[in-house]
Amino acid sequence: MSSSDDVLKSLVSHAKEYGFVFPSSEIYDGLSATYDYGPYGVDLKNNIKAYWWKAMVQIHTNLVGLDSAIFMHPTTWKASGHVDAFNDPLIDNKDSKKRYRADVLIEEYLEKIRLKIEKEVEKAAQRFGDSFDRDMYLKTNARVLGYAEEMDQVRGKMKAALEAADLESLRQLIVDLGIVCPLSGSKNWTEVRQFNLMFATELGSVSGEASTIYLRPETAQGSYVNFLNVQKSARMKIPFGIAQIGKAFRNEIIARQFIFRMREFEQMEMQFFVRPGTEMEWFEYWKNFRIKWHSVLGLGSQNYRFHDHIKLAHYANAATDIEFNFPMGFKELEGIHSRTDFDLKAHETFSGRKQQYFDPELQESYIPYVVETAIGLDRMFLAVMSASYTEEKLEDGSERTLLALPRWLAPVKLAILPLLKKDGLPELALDIFKKLRLDYTCQYDEKDAIGKRYRRQDAIGTPYCITIDHQSLEDGMVTLRDRDSMSQERIPIQDLKGWLHQRLDMSVLLEQLT
Ligand code: ATP
Repeated sequence: MSSSDDVLKSLVSHAKEYGFVFPSSEIYDGLSATYDYGPYGVDLKNNIKAYWWKAMVQIHTNLVGLDSAIFMHPTTWKASGHVDAFNDPLIDNKDSKKRYRADVLIEEYLEKIRLKIEKEVEKAAQRFGDSFDRDMYLKTNARVLGYAEEMDQVRGKMKAALEAADLESLRQLIVDLGIVCPLSGSKNWTEVRQFNLMFATELGSVSGEASTIYLRPETAQGSYVNFLNVQKSARMKIPFGIAQIGKAFRNEIIARQFIFRMREFEQMEMQFFVRPGTEMEWFEYWKNFRIKWHSVLGLGSQNYRFHDHIKLAHYANAATDIEFNFPMGFKELEGIHSRTDFDLKAHETFSGRKQQYFDPELQESYIPYVVETAIGLDRMFLAVMSASYTEEKLEDGSERTLLALPRWLAPVKLAILPLLKKDGLPELALDIFKKLRLDYTCQYDEKDAIGKRYRRQDAIGTPYCITIDHQSLEDGMVTLRDRDSMSQERIPIQDLKGWLHQRLDMSVLLEQLT
């Protein structure tokens, strides 16, 4: 088993043991690609949501919120293109009977070549030492150039096949590249077929085509069909945006890798309506803002990269992904898409209602262009958990499991711990607990030895422990223990609020975005 599998496995079991994520309906052996969030998971999730909402809606005066229904009129999905084009190209391996996304198999092949280039670069860097010029090497080394050319060619062929929906060429490319099934190791592939990802259900008791409705596969369409309602009621002027957090459903074929790819998941999406012709400026603005939103959390800038789309979706004229270094490697965490006027135009055509905005400065009406930012809440949860999870060897030889969550997102912010369960220590500790819980999610714990209590808090990611000892009764000071460094300092009880505000309040984090 590869070490990335091990990391993911440890994370899955930690998430279950400590009440972050459970398999859905586990007593019936679970339902694949569906998960429940436990007591700490729900708080972590809510904190991520709050951070997104505040950074988007609260900070930007030209963004407003919406909570549209999961069910929508079925014509919505005809107009959006999802009924006809929301498909994955699937291919089966006849020996292992495993099903794959054809484009993903090719992307994985490309990633292998990219890793070969990285290896060459690493070797050269060692050989040349300080005088090594990475850019120059990438531009001149024959072997690297050969790999790069191969990548370009494969990409070009894949793009052409996907854009033309030419499934036979897509299959041929897999055969030509000699791609084997990771499970059976064989090249015995079926044809490539298209598979629609929307879940359909029936409305009411009448059966038949007219009553078929879908569980939404994205929240975006709810924002589009409400574009004029929101614009008029909130008196918005272009450019402005609509933000939504909500569930989405996709009948994913390859639903593996824990909460990375689920069939029921949650999205945080924002649709930004702009004057046609200005969309690339806003695309850049949102690209920059979104990466900043990620980077101030401190999960490590080396864990992020942009990946521009090879194949643009039917609605887009520019698109990039923010990829994160998950335990399974770099994968899409967030998408930023310039969706043109595709959706509003389609809704105007299908509904027969004008979807135009009167621009008072230009004195003309037009269908706005849209720049979208779309991030999966569950994927963000996984990114945060996987970057934070470590098994540490301490100086004294012991080990601890540490969840070094960004402080502002931690489900429990403070643990209030009387050193002993007597001598008036619990009373003082409870007094502090009752005050601090008005501002922060706190835990009061008086069971077990103090070391054991610290470990428990480390494992759920509590940034600070406040310990009350005998001296506290005399000098009115408590010990503050830092989760990551394990360092301790004494602080007067009356200074606690100010000290904690600087370190835990989301407003301090949000300030870095402005
Ligand atoms: P992918 O290529 O991984 O299937 P996508 O490009 O189809 O994703 P979008 O339609 O752009 O995804 O959706 C926006 C975001 O929603 C994604 O960046 C991802 O974080 C999240 N997301 C999409 N599908 C899933 C899923 N099945 N499970 C969890 N999150 C998802």
